[in-house]
Amino acid sequence: MSVFSHPEFDQHERVAFRHDAASGLKAIIAVHNTRLGRALGGCRMWPYGSDDEALTDVLRLSRGMTYKAALAGLPQGGGKSVIIGDPRRDKSEALLRAMGRFVDSFGGVYVVAEDSGTNVADMRVMARETAHVGGLADKKALAAGRSGDPSPATALGVFVGLRAAVRFAYGREDLKGLRVAIQGVGNVGYRLARHLYEAGARLWVSDLHPPAVERCVREFGATAVDMDEIVAQDVDVFSPCALGAVLDERSIPRLKARVVAGAANNQLLRPEHDGLLMARGILYAPDYVINAGGIIDIYYEGPDYDRAKVEAHLQRIGATLTEIFERARRERRPTGEVADRMAEAIFKA
Ligand code: NAD
Repeated sequence: MSVFSHPEFDQHERVAFRHDAASGLKAIIAVHNTRLGRALGGCRMWPYGSDDEALTDVLRLSRGMTYKAALAGLPQGGGKSVIIGDPRRDKSEALLRAMGRFVDSFGGVYVVAEDSGTNVADMRVMARETAHVGGLADKKALAAGRSGDPSPATALGVFVGLRAAVRFAYGREDLKGLRVAIQGVGNVGYRLARHLYEAGARLWVSDLHPPAVERCVREFGATAVDMDEIVAQDVDVFSPCALGAVLDERSIPRLKARVVAGAANNQLLRPEHDGLLMARGILYAPDYVINAGGIIDIYYEGPDYDRAKVEAHLQRIGATLTEIFERARRERRPTGEVADRMAEAIFKA
C-alpha cells in the first residue's frame, strides 16, 4: 500500500497511521490542506474490508473537507480520520482514548468531530486526552441556543440553498405550491421538510424507515412514495437527503425535476455525472456547498455562541450557490466543476 502514489493522494500535507496494541486501535488521520487554518474533519469508524479501503476513504474525505470549508467562507482547512473497526463491536473507552491521544499528537493542526460510526459521547471520551475536539456544545453554548446537533443548521443551509437554486432555475422567489421530492427524511430531511412546508411547498417523501415517512404525511400533508420511485416524481426539485451516489446514468435520465438540491454527501456516483445533469438541463447544487451548515455551526461553537451570527452565515450559502450557477452558465461548465475551481482559488491563493 503506497500513499504518495495512491490515486486519491492529492498533495495531502500529512497522513499518519496509528496502531495501539492495548486497545486494538487501528486508525489513520489525513490532513489535506491547512492554508486557511486548522484542519477540521470528522472521525469515521467503519469495518473497512482492507487497509487500502480505509486509506482511500480518509484521503478522499479529508480533501473534500478542504473544499467545503473554503466555499463555506471559513478560515479552516480540511482533514479527516478513520478508525478501522465495527462501531457496534469494537468501540471501547480505551480505544477512543487512544484515538484522542493520536489526535493530540497533531498538536491542534487536526481537530476531530463526530462522523458515521462515532457520536458526541465518543467525542467527550476523546476530549479526556485532547483539547482538539470540535462539535462539543458546552453549557454556555447550549444556553445560547446551540443544540450540539449540527442537523438543524444543515437543514436551514439546504433550505437557503434550495431557494437560491429555485430562484435561478425557475425565476421564482415564492415557494408556495413548489413541488419537492425528498429522499430520506431523517435528521436533516425532516427539518428541511418542515422549512419547505412552512414556506408553502408541496412534498413527496420516501424513507427506508416507514415511521419517518408517516410523520411527514401527518405533519406536513406529504405524499408517501416508494423508495425506488422518488427520483422519478413529477416535481420541481429533487432533494437527496439519505445516502450518497444517487445520481448516476440510471437515475439521471429518470429525473423530471429541473433542480437537484439536497443534503446528502457525495451525491454524484462519479464526478462526470455532473456533466450528465448539465446536458439534461438540470441545475445541480453541489452537495458540499449546500450542506455546509453543519461545519458552519461547529465553527461558531463555544462560550460566545450566537445563533443570529450562525444564521447570517448560513444565508451566505445561497449567495455562493448563485455565484456558482451564474459562472457555470456563463462558462458552459457543470456546477460541480465550477465549485471545485472556485474553492481551489480560495485555498490555493
Ligand atoms: P439520518 O441517518 O438521520 O437520515 C437519513 C435517512 O435516510 C434515514 O431516515 C434513513 O432511514 C433514510 N434512508 C436510508 N437509505 C434510504 C433510501 N435508500 N431511500 C430513502 N431513505 C433512505 O442522516 P442525516 O443526518 O439526516 O443526514 C442525511 C444526509 O446528509 C447524509 O448523506 C449525511 O452524510 C448528509 N449530511 C448530514 C449533515 C448533518 O448535519 N447531519 C451534514 C452534512 C451532510
